Amino acid sequence: MLQTALHFSHTLLKEILQPGDQVVDATMGNGYDTVFMAELIGKTGHVYSFDIQQQAIDSTQEKLKAANLTERTTLFLQGHETLGQVISINQPIKAGIFNLGYLPQSDKEIITLPQTTKQAMEEILARLVPKGRLILVVYYGHVGGENELDMVQEFCQQLSQEQYNVLTYQFINQKNQPPILYCIEKKKKKREFS
Ligand code: SAM
Repeated sequence: MLQTALHFSHTLLKEILQPGDQVVDATMGNGYDTVFMAELIGKTGHVYSFDIQQQAIDSTQEKLKAANLTERTTLFLQGHETLGQVISINQPIKAGIFNLGYLPQSDKEIITLPQTTKQAMEEILARLVPKGRLILVVYYGHVGGENELDMVQEFCQQLSQEQYNVLTYQFINQKNQPPILYCIEKKKKKREFS
């Protein structure tokens, strides 16, 4: 069976993540991506996770504690657009993941927004290592969701083909606007010949 966008986002992470990698969960929510990546990056790696809701921090902390993964993570109760204030520009990031939209079973008014999402995408791309991936799973069925989807699509389309491979993954015959996945992969630097 073809994988859902959510499942495929984990496949794309699993393909590249190794012990020692540093990664970003830009929309922590209930912590599923944080826990998934914390398992893959091992004791020597680190996950930096962001959310603006205390509920997300509490729920993620609980899952990390149960899995004995707390020490490999730092949870920030602040917007992902502030990433540049807490992660140095010299910090190599192997992967970043966003789940755009609202937290299920929570306040549907608290949604990710195009301007702040774009800012965070730029901050992560500035730190992404060659072969690193920035993945977005975009839910867009709610009010404001289509604007954010348009921003992500335009942002991804204008990225230089010399520097990035960009993929979209989408079911085009399903009802109820299933999420669309975007993956931006940084290319390896070309060897310079003298
Ligand atoms: N990946 C999550 C999980 O595993 O459960 C689901 C994420 S949910 C679709 C989107 C999350 O983004 C919500 O928890 C919401 O609070 C958060 N959010 C909204 N604006 C944000 C911002 N500026 N920075 C970080 N998180 C934000």
